[in-house]
Amino acid sequence: MITVTNLTKCYGDFTAVDDLSFEIQEGRVYGFLGPNGAGKSTTMNIMTGCLSTTAGQVKIDGYDIFEEADQTKNLIGYLPEFPPLYMNETPLEYLKFVGAAKELKNKELEDQLQEVVSRTKIGDVKNKLISKLSKGYRQRVGIAQALLGNPKVIILDEPTVGLDPIQIIEIRDLIKQLGQTHTVIFSSHILSEVQAICEKVLIIAKGRLVAFDEPERLKKLLLTSNSVSVVTEASSAEAEEVLKGIEGIDSWEIQGAEEEALRILVKSSHGIPTDICRKLFFAFSGREKAILEMTTQKASLEDIFIELTEEEPAAMNEDERESAQKRESEVDNL
Ligand code: ADP
Ligand code: MG
Repeated sequence: MITVTNLTKCYGDFTAVDDLSFEIQEGRVYGFLGPNGAGKSTTMNIMTGCLSTTAGQVKIDGYDIFEEADQTKNLIGYLPEFPPLYMNETPLEYLKFVGAAKELKNKELEDQLQEVVSRTKIGDVKNKLISKLSKGYRQRVGIAQALLGNPKVIILDEPTVGLDPIQIIEIRDLIKQLGQTHTVIFSSHILSEVQAICEKVLIIAKGRLVAFDEPERLKKLLLTSNSVSVVTEASSAEAEEVLKGIEGIDSWEIQGAEEEALRILVKSSHGIPTDICRKLFFAFSGREKAILEMTTQKASLEDIFIELTEEEPAAMNEDERESAQKRESEVDNL
């Protein structure tokens, strides 16, 4: 559906996007994840034909986005990071204007206006001034304009930035719904968001693609440190003996003794957590020492993200990081 090949964008002698290649398939929701300054907006602006490239190519349905712009321009709907909304217009006026620019007329325009207003649930505010709308509603209007013309692909640049937790959840739901009828690509620097909505994640740092996989597989494949918390009736000397004999365990920490039971945190960078659990189970039962409790602690996408991008110092400053984390935890707590 979309093929990006060796895409590079330089601003003067600064390389914002560095030899990026990936392929987007039809009918899925893709998350474009990376810290601020990673090159997400630049890449999206190029993919939508709004910004030129320094090198490389973007093809949509086989057509070159720059050389065959006539064939590609109706295939993509775009919500830029800063959507050009006209504050002294109503959503309906604005959408009519965008619809006309997309060459929709008469009944087709009317039908589509109705359709996008209903999909983005802006019916109640469609005749109010955009300047009077909340950020959440403005973002819906921005998404509605992207949907006009019924493009196959919808690209949304940080659609939840600046929204309150309730609005974030509403926009996420809307993105999920859009994914049932469109190919959706959205960017975010919030990991839990991408994890919650998308089927494929592209992680980008310093203009380079550092990972491209399903969220669950990313977790499994790139899991660097699994840990398993074990409660056993073995003594600490017995437990040490058992653990020494298990292949694939990196380290362990005895965390305390509780009512004739010992709690140990076992760490392993090999294999998947269930393999380690099996090994622990049989090793302890072989010594006739029961395991009373066993819990795996999987790495989150957050851990993976940090690991993948940590060689490249994140461009987010402390304040941004703090506010992103705060927002993330607010949403997680809902
Ligand atoms: P993201 O959307 O991931 O936050 P951007 O694509 O906006 O990242 O920016 C990538 C890098 O390119 C950043 O370091 C940014 O400062 C730089 N950049 C973006 N636009 C311009 C521009 N017009 N001129 C110079 N540098 C730019
Ligand atoms: Mg951006």
